[in-house]
Amino acid sequence: MADGDRCYFCTQRPREEIAIARWHPEEPDEQERLTIHLCGKHMERLQKAGQRGWPQKDYVYKQGFW
Ligand SMILES: [Zn+2]
Repeated sequence: MADGDRCYFCTQRPREEIAIARWHPEEPDEQERLTIHLCGKHMERLQKAGQRGWPQKDYVYKQGFW
């Protein structure tokens, strides 16, 4: 499936492409920056987590590059 056809975290159609930072919980200073497509539900989830970030699988995700 082509990039952008589905949400980064699930199989829903994405609503927006957003910039995020992610890191491993044990290495909070090693942030990786990328843009991903998200559905409405997962955008909300990320926004609700705010600066604390949203732990998912091996990473913590946060909206924005800083
Ligand atoms: Zn999703």
